[in-house]
Amino acid sequence: MGTHLSGRTRICGIIGDPIEHTLSPRMHNAAFQSAGLDYIYVPFRVRREDLTLAIQGMRALHIRGLSVTIPHKVAVMSLLDEIDPLAQKIGAVNTVSNECGVLTGYNTDSTGFLRALEAEKIDLKGKNVCILGAGGAARAIAFSVADRGARLTILNRHPDSAEGLANRILKFFRQHVLALELNRENLKTALRGTDLLVNTTSVGMSPNFDETPVPLTLLNRKLIIFDIIYNPLKTRLLEGAEKRGARVISGLQMLVWQGAAAFELWTGAKAPMERMREATLKALRSSED
Ligand code: NAP
Repeated sequence: MGTHLSGRTRICGIIGDPIEHTLSPRMHNAAFQSAGLDYIYVPFRVRREDLTLAIQGMRALHIRGLSVTIPHKVAVMSLLDEIDPLAQKIGAVNTVSNECGVLTGYNTDSTGFLRALEAEKIDLKGKNVCILGAGGAARAIAFSVADRGARLTILNRHPDSAEGLANRILKFFRQHVLALELNRENLKTALRGTDLLVNTTSVGMSPNFDETPVPLTLLNRKLIIFDIIYNPLKTRLLEGAEKRGARVISGLQMLVWQGAAAFELWTGAKAPMERMREATLKALRSSED
């Protein structure tokens, strides 16, 4: 790695704080290599107070693209020249593309989620979708779901955040959106008519492998369950859902598809999906050692 660098190499990277555990450099460098592109992807730890400097640096250094992670996804928006319309509605950007000095912000969490469903041939139109959580990822997913014409129920531990997200969606879409507190009773009622259940809470994420945001007894084989957590690859929720005969989709799918969308924005080339999935899986497994 790195020996191919030349005066023509194009630079991409990720800004966030903390950044030590990111899997993105492994995923993107494997993709660049596999596609034979003279690109490199590096991690940059950028403190909250240094974000403006970092974006100025992107312009000055002609950095081709950046992934943006916690805590910069909202703050970065005011520093860019253009924002993709869906990212604008979502109110968060996780990818920046530098087209000859014009910086445009996108939300590829949204694209990643939608492409992961498309890959499974799941059409959202007219479906009932239940989203657990109302944080950053939920925001991207809820807008994508509304944009595709599905009905939405958002359940969150703090119901005010679910309400806030529902109201934000209703400003742009005329869909049916319901906000509820995340508790057993509400889950039981909501799951009755649900086609797709998406977990966007961090419940069940490493090291809390034994936790699940939904009591497993409430699951049934008619549900499709998408858990966006990718560490562990198979959460307790997905394991329990599979045992009950439900169809499951793991967070790794969304992670790789969102990376693929960023790759395509920066390079204009088709993303080598299999190579990206393989490299991300390998990075995940070595991070568990
Ligand atoms: P976030 O903005 O911090 O939101 C966290 C959400 O989890 C909030 O809704 C929070 O509810 C809920 N929550 C946390 N602890 C809880 C508990 N004990 N009981 C019930 N609810 C709880 O985080 P985020 O950026 O949205 O990320 C959430 C998860 O998605 C993480 O595991 C992250 O790794 C994963 N993710 C995956 C991808 C992918 O590509 N696969 C992309 C983005 C994120 P309150 O509002 O009540 O606190």
